[in-house]
Amino acid sequence: MTADRTFVIVGAGLAGAKAAETLRGEGFEGRILLIGSETERPYERPPLSKGLLLGTADRDEPFVHPESWYAENNVELRTGVTVTEIDPAAHTVRTADGETIGYDKLLLATGASPRTIPVQGVDRALTLRTYPDSDRIAAQVREGTKLVVIGAGWIGLEVAAAARERGAQVTIVESASLPLQRVLGDQMASVFAKIHREHGVDFRFDAQIEEITADRVRLAGGEELDADEVILAVGVAPNVGLATDAGLAVDNGVLVDARLRTSDPDIFAAGDIAAVDHPLLHTRVRVEHWANALNGGPVAAKSMLGQDAEQDFLPYFFTDQYDLGMEYAGWVAADAKPEVVIRGDLDGREFIAFWTQDGKVLAGMNVNVWDVSDQIQDLIRAGLKGTTVDAARLADPEVPLDGLLS
Ligand code: FAD
Repeated sequence: MTADRTFVIVGAGLAGAKAAETLRGEGFEGRILLIGSETERPYERPPLSKGLLLGTADRDEPFVHPESWYAENNVELRTGVTVTEIDPAAHTVRTADGETIGYDKLLLATGASPRTIPVQGVDRALTLRTYPDSDRIAAQVREGTKLVVIGAGWIGLEVAAAARERGAQVTIVESASLPLQRVLGDQMASVFAKIHREHGVDFRFDAQIEEITADRVRLAGGEELDADEVILAVGVAPNVGLATDAGLAVDNGVLVDARLRTSDPDIFAAGDIAAVDHPLLHTRVRVEHWANALNGGPVAAKSMLGQDAEQDFLPYFFTDQYDLGMEYAGWVAADAKPEVVIRGDLDGREFIAFWTQDGKVLAGMNVNVWDVSDQIQDLIRAGLKGTTVDAARLADPEVPLDGLLS
């Protein structure tokens, strides 16, 4: 009998909403409370830096479920409510307005928050995490706006692309010597630098911010960039305060096993906060991407129900910038020294890049080539089992991807 049990989900983002959906889908008849700090019902964030900023997406597009879904599925959605404390011994959570709620099982899906930098004037910089953040940027970044974006990661680049399409003048300031350099390596990072330059974005690489003033950004070395608006996009930090205070094991994310169980048997974690002991990659992996929340929420829900579910999917990410669409799947460890094998037209930006080591495919990125991610992921899974692939055949578009393993 599950009817007399209460499952509480803290964090009403994508992972939390998908967990609630899965609990009901799997026949859980008890009480489900989905508690979130934001005033909107759960929504997906990718459109915030793409279609919503460009004005091409419908304003309802990001929402995970229609408004009526929560009542129809008897999911008690509490928006605008922040959980301030967990008492694992008492099996309760406490909210900012003083309510204490008991749980049988608890899921933490509190996501991540933008990081900041310790410089004078940083309070003037906008960040992009929420729906209102996206609306604010859309209102303030217009034709002719002089925009400085700090950080050439995924969000910084996507905002820059949207801002260029809105007619703003964009300069990106980055401490590394290329965008996405740490994630993609020099050759692939150059693809992103090039497309942004072609669209009129100015870069300052190897640059440090010294101060943000009312109308400028001053760099170490003295250069001053005109800045009507500044967007700070230097990454996010997982929201692990509740877990830490509750005494759960935390180390750059809430530590969970492959079934997304924390160090407390009745508490689970999913999405951006979960540092997963990955069953295929045999290392701890914390992924701050959409698919991880989409698929991780359901894994956590099944695990809460005592089912044998594991987070055994590969890390996956996508981006859209100008006319470049790409998907990336796989995992390249920070200390790996992979080779990059290109299949297709690099200059024409229609290709697949593979990161390989000792003939094994670690990761693959398809750029403006579609319906290949499943096959790329098959190659990566095969590599994880020790199967090697000949680099010349991998690079040859005449050899079908699904023929590489035979
Ligand atoms: P979140 O979406 O962060 O949701 C967590 C929720 O928990 C938040 O609403 C938060 O307010 C709430 N919360 C936190 N603490 C508490 C508390 N104490 N009490 C109550 N509620 C709390 N990924 C991709 O793969 N591709 C993309 O193109 C892409 N684009 C993105 C664009 C933007 C602008 C952003 C911000 C992210 C993008 N991502 C993308 C990443 C992706 O959106 C995240 O990985 C995903 O949102 C993580 O989902 P989550 O449910 O774990 O956390």
